[in-house]
Amino acid sequence: MSRFWSDVTQGLTPYIPGEQPKLANLVKLNTNENPYPPSPRVIDALRATADDRLRLYPDPTSQQLREAIGTFHGLSIDQIFVGNGSDEVLAHAFLGLLKHDLPILFPDISYSFYPVYCGLYQIAWREMPLAADFSIHVDDYLDVPNGGIIFPNPNAPTGIALPVTEVERLVAGNPNVVVVVDEAYVDFCGETALPLIDRYPNLLVVRTLSKAHSLAGLRVGYALGHPDLIEGLNRVKDSFNSYPLDRFAQVGATACMQDRPYFEQCRDRVIASRERLSAGLRGLGFEVLPSGANFVFARHSAHAGADLAAALRSRSIIVRHFKQPARIDPFLRITVGTDAECDALLAALTGICG
Ligand code: PMP
Repeated sequence: MSRFWSDVTQGLTPYIPGEQPKLANLVKLNTNENPYPPSPRVIDALRATADDRLRLYPDPTSQQLREAIGTFHGLSIDQIFVGNGSDEVLAHAFLGLLKHDLPILFPDISYSFYPVYCGLYQIAWREMPLAADFSIHVDDYLDVPNGGIIFPNPNAPTGIALPVTEVERLVAGNPNVVVVVDEAYVDFCGETALPLIDRYPNLLVVRTLSKAHSLAGLRVGYALGHPDLIEGLNRVKDSFNSYPLDRFAQVGATACMQDRPYFEQCRDRVIASRERLSAGLRGLGFEVLPSGANFVFARHSAHAGADLAAALRSRSIIVRHFKQPARIDPFLRITVGTDAECDALLAALTGICG
Protein backbone atom coordinates (compact mmCIF):
# COMPACT_ATOMS: atom_id res chain seq x y z
CA MET A 1 0.00 0.00 0.00
CA SER A 2 1.30 3.44 -0.89
CA ARG A 3 -0.22 6.87 -0.52
CA PHE A 4 0.63 7.40 -4.19
CA TRP A 5 -1.82 4.72 -5.34
CA SER A 6 -5.08 5.81 -6.91
CA ASP A 7 -8.36 4.60 -5.40
CA VAL A 8 -8.71 2.15 -8.29
CA THR A 9 -5.24 0.70 -7.64
CA GLN A 10 -5.98 0.35 -3.94
CA GLY A 11 -9.17 -1.55 -4.69
CA LEU A 12 -7.66 -4.02 -7.16
CA THR A 13 -7.40 -7.76 -6.56
CA PRO A 14 -5.00 -8.72 -9.35
CA TYR A 15 -5.06 -12.00 -11.24
CA ILE A 16 -2.43 -14.51 -10.15
CA PRO A 17 -0.93 -16.32 -13.15
CA GLY A 18 0.25 -19.92 -12.83
CA GLU A 19 3.87 -20.24 -11.78
CA GLN A 20 6.72 -20.38 -14.27
CA PRO A 21 9.40 -21.95 -12.03
CA LYS A 22 13.01 -21.90 -13.20
CA LEU A 23 13.73 -25.46 -12.06
CA ALA A 24 15.39 -28.06 -14.27
CA ASN A 25 13.72 -31.42 -14.95
CA LEU A 26 10.32 -30.20 -13.96
CA VAL A 27 7.19 -31.81 -15.37
CA LYS A 28 5.20 -28.65 -15.88
CA LEU A 29 1.47 -29.37 -16.13
CA ASN A 30 0.12 -26.19 -14.51
CA THR A 31 -0.55 -23.52 -17.15
CA ASN A 32 -2.12 -25.34 -20.11
CA GLU A 33 0.74 -24.70 -22.49
CA ASN A 34 1.15 -27.02 -25.47
CA PRO A 35 3.85 -29.67 -24.95
CA TYR A 36 4.84 -29.47 -28.63
CA PRO A 37 6.93 -26.71 -30.19
CA PRO A 38 5.47 -24.12 -32.56
CA SER A 39 5.46 -24.80 -36.31
CA PRO A 40 8.99 -24.69 -37.78
CA ARG A 41 7.59 -22.07 -40.18
CA VAL A 42 7.06 -19.78 -37.18
CA ILE A 43 10.67 -20.10 -36.08
CA ASP A 44 11.92 -19.44 -39.63
CA ALA A 45 9.70 -16.37 -39.92
CA LEU A 46 10.92 -15.02 -36.56
CA ARG A 47 14.58 -15.49 -37.54
CA ALA A 48 13.99 -13.70 -40.83
CA THR A 49 12.48 -10.77 -38.90
CA ALA A 50 15.54 -10.09 -36.73
CA ASP A 51 16.97 -7.31 -38.89
CA ASP A 52 17.20 -3.54 -39.38
CA ARG A 53 13.44 -3.19 -39.75
CA LEU A 54 13.20 -3.39 -35.97
CA ARG A 55 13.98 0.35 -35.86
CA LEU A 56 10.55 0.90 -37.43
CA TYR A 57 7.21 0.63 -35.65
CA PRO A 58 5.20 -2.45 -36.58
CA ASP A 59 1.96 -2.23 -38.58
CA PRO A 60 -0.56 -0.81 -36.05
CA THR A 61 -3.42 -2.64 -37.82
CA SER A 62 -1.68 -6.06 -38.05
CA GLN A 63 -3.16 -6.29 -41.55
CA GLN A 64 -1.15 -9.29 -42.75
CA LEU A 65 -1.94 -11.27 -39.62
CA ARG A 66 -5.64 -10.45 -39.84
CA GLU A 67 -5.63 -11.60 -43.45
CA ALA A 68 -4.03 -14.90 -42.42
CA ILE A 69 -6.61 -15.37 -39.63
CA GLY A 70 -9.34 -14.50 -42.15
CA THR A 71 -8.10 -17.15 -44.55
CA PHE A 72 -7.84 -19.70 -41.71
CA HIS A 73 -11.46 -19.16 -40.64
CA GLY A 74 -13.03 -18.04 -43.94
CA LEU A 75 -13.86 -14.55 -42.58
CA SER A 76 -13.23 -11.01 -43.83
CA ILE A 77 -10.69 -8.86 -42.05
CA ASP A 78 -13.26 -6.37 -40.78
CA GLN A 79 -14.58 -9.24 -38.63
CA ILE A 80 -11.17 -9.71 -36.94
CA PHE A 81 -9.47 -7.91 -34.06
CA VAL A 82 -6.02 -8.92 -32.76
CA GLY A 83 -4.40 -8.24 -29.41
CA ASN A 84 -1.47 -8.98 -27.15
CA GLY A 85 -2.74 -12.34 -25.97
CA SER A 86 -6.44 -13.04 -25.64
CA ASP A 87 -6.21 -11.52 -22.15
CA GLU A 88 -5.75 -8.12 -23.76
CA VAL A 89 -8.57 -8.81 -26.23
CA LEU A 90 -10.82 -9.74 -23.30
CA ALA A 91 -9.79 -6.61 -21.38
CA HIS A 92 -10.80 -4.43 -24.32
CA ALA A 93 -14.08 -6.33 -24.64
CA PHE A 94 -14.85 -5.69 -20.96
CA LEU A 95 -14.26 -1.95 -21.31
CA GLY A 96 -15.56 -1.49 -24.82
CA LEU A 97 -18.53 -3.86 -25.02
CA LEU A 98 -19.51 -5.19 -21.58
CA LYS A 99 -19.34 -2.08 -19.38
CA HIS A 100 -22.91 -0.83 -18.96
CA ASP A 101 -25.15 0.00 -16.02
CA LEU A 102 -26.50 -3.50 -15.46
CA PRO A 103 -24.25 -6.23 -14.06
CA ILE A 104 -22.64 -8.63 -16.51
CA LEU A 105 -23.11 -12.38 -16.01
CA PHE A 106 -20.55 -15.16 -15.92
CA PRO A 107 -20.41 -18.62 -14.30
CA ASP A 108 -19.34 -18.82 -10.65
CA ILE A 109 -16.64 -21.24 -11.71
CA SER A 110 -14.87 -19.86 -14.77
CA TYR A 111 -11.77 -17.92 -15.80
CA SER A 112 -10.65 -16.06 -12.69
CA PHE A 113 -9.53 -13.06 -14.74
CA TYR A 114 -13.15 -11.98 -15.40
CA PRO A 115 -13.80 -10.49 -11.94
CA VAL A 116 -10.37 -8.87 -12.10
CA TYR A 117 -11.31 -6.96 -15.26
CA CYS A 118 -14.59 -6.00 -13.61
CA GLY A 119 -12.57 -4.57 -10.71
CA LEU A 120 -10.22 -2.72 -13.02
CA TYR A 121 -12.97 -1.19 -15.14
CA GLN A 122 -15.53 -0.85 -12.35
CA ILE A 123 -18.09 -3.14 -13.94
CA ALA A 124 -20.77 -4.75 -11.77
CA TRP A 125 -21.06 -8.52 -12.16
CA ARG A 126 -23.20 -11.42 -11.05
CA GLU A 127 -21.91 -14.98 -10.84
CA MET A 128 -24.26 -17.68 -12.11
CA PRO A 129 -23.82 -21.05 -10.35
CA LEU A 130 -22.86 -24.01 -12.48
CA ALA A 131 -25.23 -26.98 -12.38
CA ALA A 132 -24.50 -29.93 -10.07
CA ASP A 133 -22.55 -31.66 -12.87
CA PHE A 134 -20.46 -28.47 -13.35
CA SER A 135 -22.11 -27.63 -16.69
CA ILE A 136 -23.40 -24.17 -17.64
CA HIS A 137 -27.17 -24.02 -17.23
CA VAL A 138 -28.32 -21.80 -20.11
CA ASP A 139 -31.85 -21.21 -18.79
CA ASP A 140 -30.34 -19.25 -15.90
CA TYR A 141 -29.02 -16.67 -18.39
CA LEU A 142 -32.36 -16.09 -20.10
CA ASP A 143 -34.71 -13.38 -18.85
CA VAL A 144 -32.15 -12.00 -16.36
CA PRO A 145 -31.55 -8.28 -16.93
CA ASN A 146 -27.83 -7.93 -17.65
CA GLY A 147 -25.25 -5.69 -19.29
CA GLY A 148 -23.57 -8.55 -21.14
CA ILE A 149 -22.45 -12.16 -20.73
CA ILE A 150 -19.07 -13.84 -20.89
CA PHE A 151 -18.04 -17.44 -20.42
CA PRO A 152 -15.27 -19.75 -21.59
CA ASN A 153 -16.23 -22.61 -23.89
CA PRO A 154 -14.95 -25.15 -23.02
CA ASN A 155 -15.20 -23.77 -19.52
CA ALA A 156 -12.08 -23.31 -17.45
CA PRO A 157 -11.04 -24.84 -15.16
CA THR A 158 -13.68 -27.55 -15.54
CA GLY A 159 -12.88 -28.34 -19.21
CA ILE A 160 -16.55 -29.03 -19.91
CA ALA A 161 -17.81 -27.87 -23.34
CA LEU A 162 -21.26 -26.40 -23.85
CA PRO A 163 -22.86 -27.69 -27.08
CA VAL A 164 -23.12 -25.03 -29.80
CA THR A 165 -26.91 -25.41 -29.84
CA GLU A 166 -26.93 -24.29 -26.20
CA VAL A 167 -24.56 -21.39 -26.94
CA GLU A 168 -26.93 -20.28 -29.68
CA ARG A 169 -29.89 -20.42 -27.30
CA LEU A 170 -28.02 -18.15 -24.89
CA VAL A 171 -26.94 -15.69 -27.62
CA ALA A 172 -30.40 -15.61 -29.24
CA GLY A 173 -32.04 -15.11 -25.84
CA ASN A 174 -29.92 -12.01 -25.11
CA PRO A 175 -30.16 -10.00 -28.34
CA ASN A 176 -29.65 -6.59 -26.71
CA VAL A 177 -26.30 -7.25 -25.06
CA VAL A 178 -22.94 -8.60 -26.20
CA VAL A 179 -22.22 -12.25 -25.46
CA VAL A 180 -18.49 -13.01 -25.41
CA VAL A 181 -17.57 -16.66 -25.88
CA ASP A 182 -13.98 -17.17 -24.77
CA GLU A 183 -12.85 -20.07 -26.95
CA ALA A 184 -9.27 -20.33 -25.63
CA TYR A 185 -9.53 -24.16 -25.61
CA VAL A 186 -12.10 -24.82 -28.34
CA ASP A 187 -9.66 -26.42 -30.78
CA PHE A 188 -9.53 -29.45 -28.50
CA CYS A 189 -13.27 -30.15 -28.84
CA GLY A 190 -14.65 -28.33 -31.89
CA GLU A 191 -17.78 -26.89 -30.21
CA THR A 192 -17.17 -23.47 -31.76
CA ALA A 193 -19.72 -20.67 -31.98
CA LEU A 194 -17.97 -19.23 -35.05
CA PRO A 195 -20.67 -20.34 -37.54
CA LEU A 196 -23.09 -18.13 -35.56
CA ILE A 197 -21.30 -14.80 -35.96
CA ASP A 198 -22.86 -13.99 -39.34
CA ARG A 199 -26.34 -14.39 -37.84
CA TYR A 200 -25.84 -12.79 -34.42
CA PRO A 201 -24.40 -9.25 -34.37
CA ASN A 202 -24.16 -9.47 -30.56
CA LEU A 203 -21.76 -12.44 -30.52
CA LEU A 204 -18.02 -12.00 -30.02
CA VAL A 205 -15.79 -15.10 -30.17
CA VAL A 206 -12.33 -14.78 -28.60
CA ARG A 207 -9.45 -17.08 -29.52
CA THR A 208 -5.79 -17.47 -28.57
CA LEU A 209 -2.61 -18.81 -30.16
CA SER A 210 -1.33 -19.76 -26.69
CA LYS A 211 -2.88 -23.22 -26.46
CA ALA A 212 -3.51 -25.32 -29.59
CA HIS A 213 -1.03 -23.23 -31.63
CA SER A 214 1.88 -23.59 -29.13
CA LEU A 215 2.60 -19.85 -29.02
CA ALA A 216 1.99 -18.77 -25.41
CA GLY A 217 5.35 -17.00 -25.48
CA LEU A 218 4.45 -14.79 -28.44
CA ARG A 219 1.30 -13.28 -26.83
CA VAL A 220 -1.27 -13.25 -29.62
CA GLY A 221 -5.04 -13.53 -29.30
CA TYR A 222 -7.91 -12.40 -31.48
CA ALA A 223 -11.63 -11.74 -31.55
CA LEU A 224 -14.13 -12.56 -34.31
CA GLY A 225 -17.50 -10.91 -34.68
CA HIS A 226 -19.65 -8.34 -36.46
CA PRO A 227 -17.60 -5.41 -37.88
CA ASP A 228 -19.38 -3.02 -35.46
CA LEU A 229 -18.09 -5.00 -32.46
CA ILE A 230 -14.61 -5.09 -34.01
CA GLU A 231 -14.71 -1.32 -34.56
CA GLY A 232 -15.60 -0.88 -30.87
CA LEU A 233 -12.58 -2.95 -29.85
CA ASN A 234 -10.35 -0.93 -32.19
CA ARG A 235 -11.56 2.31 -30.62
CA VAL A 236 -10.46 1.00 -27.19
CA LYS A 237 -7.17 -0.35 -28.55
CA ASP A 238 -6.32 2.94 -30.25
CA SER A 239 -7.07 4.76 -27.01
CA PHE A 240 -4.68 2.49 -25.11
CA ASN A 241 -1.75 1.24 -27.25
CA SER A 242 -1.48 1.61 -31.02
CA TYR A 243 1.14 -1.14 -31.30
CA PRO A 244 0.12 -4.03 -29.04
CA LEU A 245 1.61 -6.64 -31.39
CA ASP A 246 5.27 -6.18 -32.09
CA ARG A 247 6.90 -7.09 -35.40
CA PHE A 248 7.83 -10.60 -34.20
CA ALA A 249 4.36 -11.37 -32.90
CA GLN A 250 2.74 -10.32 -36.17
CA VAL A 251 5.14 -12.25 -38.39
CA GLY A 252 5.25 -15.37 -36.18
CA ALA A 253 1.48 -15.51 -35.74
CA THR A 254 0.97 -15.06 -39.49
CA ALA A 255 3.27 -18.00 -40.26
CA CYS A 256 1.45 -20.01 -37.59
CA MET A 257 -1.98 -19.43 -39.12
CA GLN A 258 -0.59 -20.41 -42.53
CA ASP A 259 0.52 -23.86 -41.31
CA ARG A 260 -2.77 -25.63 -40.71
CA PRO A 261 -1.47 -29.21 -41.14
CA TYR A 262 1.09 -28.75 -38.34
CA PHE A 263 -1.57 -27.26 -36.04
CA GLU A 264 -3.96 -30.15 -36.71
CA GLN A 265 -1.26 -32.72 -36.07
CA CYS A 266 -0.27 -31.27 -32.65
CA ARG A 267 -3.91 -30.75 -31.65
CA ASP A 268 -4.76 -34.37 -32.47
CA ARG A 269 -1.80 -35.63 -30.45
CA VAL A 270 -2.91 -33.61 -27.42
CA ILE A 271 -6.48 -34.91 -27.75
CA ALA A 272 -5.25 -38.52 -27.93
CA SER A 273 -3.03 -37.97 -24.85
CA ARG A 274 -5.94 -36.38 -22.98
CA GLU A 275 -8.07 -39.49 -23.47
CA ARG A 276 -5.17 -41.71 -22.40
CA LEU A 277 -4.49 -39.54 -19.32
CA SER A 278 -8.17 -39.45 -18.35
CA ALA A 279 -8.38 -43.25 -18.54
CA GLY A 280 -5.21 -43.57 -16.44
CA LEU A 281 -6.54 -41.21 -13.79
CA ARG A 282 -9.87 -43.03 -13.62
CA GLY A 283 -7.94 -46.26 -13.14
CA LEU A 284 -6.34 -44.67 -10.05
CA GLY A 285 -9.72 -43.81 -8.55
CA PHE A 286 -10.09 -40.26 -9.82
CA GLU A 287 -13.33 -38.76 -11.02
CA VAL A 288 -12.39 -36.91 -14.23
CA LEU A 289 -14.83 -34.36 -15.65
CA PRO A 290 -15.42 -34.79 -19.40
CA SER A 291 -12.81 -32.50 -20.96
CA GLY A 292 -12.98 -30.68 -24.27
CA ALA A 293 -9.76 -28.82 -23.46
CA ASN A 294 -6.01 -29.49 -23.21
CA PHE A 295 -6.33 -30.09 -19.49
CA VAL A 296 -8.38 -32.35 -17.26
CA PHE A 297 -10.11 -31.49 -13.99
CA ALA A 298 -10.04 -34.41 -11.60
CA ARG A 299 -10.63 -35.26 -7.95
CA HIS A 300 -9.80 -38.28 -5.85
CA SER A 301 -12.29 -39.62 -3.33
CA ALA A 302 -9.64 -40.31 -0.68
CA HIS A 303 -7.10 -37.50 -1.15
CA ALA A 304 -7.50 -33.73 -0.90
CA GLY A 305 -6.56 -31.67 -3.94
CA ALA A 306 -4.08 -29.52 -2.01
CA ASP A 307 -2.33 -32.61 -0.57
CA LEU A 308 -2.03 -34.22 -3.99
CA ALA A 309 -0.66 -31.03 -5.52
CA ALA A 310 1.93 -30.75 -2.73
CA ALA A 311 2.93 -34.41 -3.02
CA LEU A 312 3.36 -34.06 -6.78
CA ARG A 313 5.41 -30.90 -6.35
CA SER A 314 7.82 -32.74 -4.05
CA ARG A 315 8.30 -35.12 -6.99
CA SER A 316 8.99 -32.17 -9.38
CA ILE A 317 5.59 -32.32 -11.05
CA ILE A 318 3.47 -29.19 -10.91
CA VAL A 319 -0.27 -29.04 -11.54
CA ARG A 320 -2.79 -26.32 -10.64
CA HIS A 321 -4.93 -26.38 -7.52
CA PHE A 322 -7.56 -23.71 -6.77
CA LYS A 323 -8.62 -23.19 -3.13
CA GLN A 324 -11.58 -21.05 -4.22
CA PRO A 325 -14.45 -21.43 -4.85
CA ALA A 326 -14.73 -24.15 -2.18
CA ARG A 327 -16.60 -26.43 -4.56
CA ILE A 328 -13.48 -26.96 -6.66
CA ASP A 329 -11.01 -27.28 -3.78
CA PRO A 330 -10.93 -31.12 -4.10
CA PHE A 331 -9.88 -30.89 -7.78
CA LEU A 332 -6.59 -30.72 -9.62
CA ARG A 333 -6.34 -29.07 -13.01
CA ILE A 334 -3.81 -31.05 -14.96
CA THR A 335 -2.47 -29.87 -18.33
CA VAL A 336 -2.18 -32.60 -20.93
CA GLY A 337 1.55 -33.03 -21.58
CA THR A 338 3.35 -35.45 -23.84
CA ASP A 339 2.54 -39.11 -23.25
CA ALA A 340 5.87 -39.39 -21.38
CA GLU A 341 4.92 -36.49 -19.08
CA CYS A 342 1.45 -37.96 -18.49
CA ASP A 343 3.07 -41.30 -17.67
CA ALA A 344 5.40 -39.60 -15.16
CA LEU A 345 2.35 -38.01 -13.53
CA LEU A 346 0.43 -41.28 -13.40
CA ALA A 347 3.44 -43.11 -11.94
CA ALA A 348 3.82 -40.44 -9.25
CA LEU A 349 0.11 -40.55 -8.41
CA THR A 350 0.25 -44.35 -8.22
CA GLY A 351 2.92 -43.94 -5.52
CA ILE A 352 1.00 -41.20 -3.70
CA CYS A 353 -2.47 -42.75 -3.81
CA GLY A 354 -1.20 -46.27 -3.76
N1 PMP B 1 -9.19 -17.41 -21.55
C1 PMP B 1 -9.05 -18.50 -20.80
C2 PMP B 1 -10.27 -19.27 -20.43
C3 PMP B 1 -7.78 -18.91 -20.36
O1 PMP B 1 -7.65 -19.98 -19.57
C4 PMP B 1 -6.65 -18.15 -20.73
C5 PMP B 1 -5.27 -18.58 -20.29
N2 PMP B 1 -4.93 -18.23 -19.00
C6 PMP B 1 -6.85 -17.01 -21.50
C7 PMP B 1 -8.12 -16.68 -21.91
C8 PMP B 1 -5.72 -16.10 -21.86
O2 PMP B 1 -4.82 -16.65 -22.76
P1 PMP B 1 -3.77 -15.77 -23.53
O3 PMP B 1 -3.75 -14.39 -22.91
O4 PMP B 1 -2.48 -16.48 -23.39
O5 PMP B 1 -4.23 -15.70 -24.95
